[in-house]
Amino acid sequence: MELNTARQELPKNKTILITGSSRGIGAATAKLLSSNGYSVCINYNTNESAAYELLGEITACHGQAIVVQADISKEKDVIRLFEETERSFGYIDGLVNNAGIISLQSTLEHMDFERIQRIFSINTIGAMICAREAVKRMQTKNGGRGGVIVNVSTALAKSGAPNLYLDYAASKGAIETFTIGLARETADQGIRVNVIRPGMIDTEIHLSSGDPNRVQKAATYAPMKRVGQAIEVAKAISWLISDESSYTTGAVVDVSGGV
Ligand code: NAP
Repeated sequence: MELNTARQELPKNKTILITGSSRGIGAATAKLLSSNGYSVCINYNTNESAAYELLGEITACHGQAIVVQADISKEKDVIRLFEETERSFGYIDGLVNNAGIISLQSTLEHMDFERIQRIFSINTIGAMICAREAVKRMQTKNGGRGGVIVNVSTALAKSGAPNLYLDYAASKGAIETFTIGLARETADQGIRVNVIRPGMIDTEIHLSSGDPNRVQKAATYAPMKRVGQAIEVAKAISWLISDESSYTTGAVVDVSGGV
């Protein structure tokens, strides 16, 4: 049998908006998608220099990208983020709902209202509002040409993260349920919606945990005896964004090294 060695065609003029892409998994995804021929919107909240550094890297490799500051927990910011991306690139073909935060490791009894509210307003409500803006533009009944949404959960949504981050795990568990419902709601509108469930990935998010050795410790009890790298998650996101996953919707994809 002849092997099919044909090179996959690069996407023509497709634009992907990646929330929280100044650093970590989002930045790795922006770089990978750009190298695969997509135009990307790099969104950040506070770390302007990291966002512009990434923009410089992408444009140095002849990629198309813009940077937009927006706090995704604020509806007005989200709407502006989508409008600015559309103004620059015309159409938004994909959304990676990646921005997310954790807080200090704690048990529930020490979690105040403001902490829990902040976690949910970024990880859950912010992601839902971003998805809403994407769907409004993508759905074929509104004249859109369809699109893809990839939400980012966590392997902790399976365990509930007792004694660590019940609020964070619950905020991501909600995103998994949301993904399944939205996938079914929009399946006949040319939209696919999936969720990635990363395990422990070596990024700066763990600096907010209060345990400076969190990543190193996790490697010792991980099935593969190592944590993951952002690029390993980015590759799975890239597959879900691409037409290679054209019959996949409502799926939860674990990228967790067996956890
Ligand atoms: P990270 O390195 O801390 O990066 C977080 C990104 O989100 C930054 O670009 C940050 O931008 C942005 N961000 C935070 N709050 C935002 C807001 N309100 N509005 C817009 N952007 C905001 O995190 P990461 O490890 O790459 O995590 C990315 C996603 O993967 C998160 O959803 C996280 O829950 C999930 N995840 C991570 C791991 C892991 O072990 N790393 C495991 C499972 C799931 P600024 O710096 O500019 O604020």
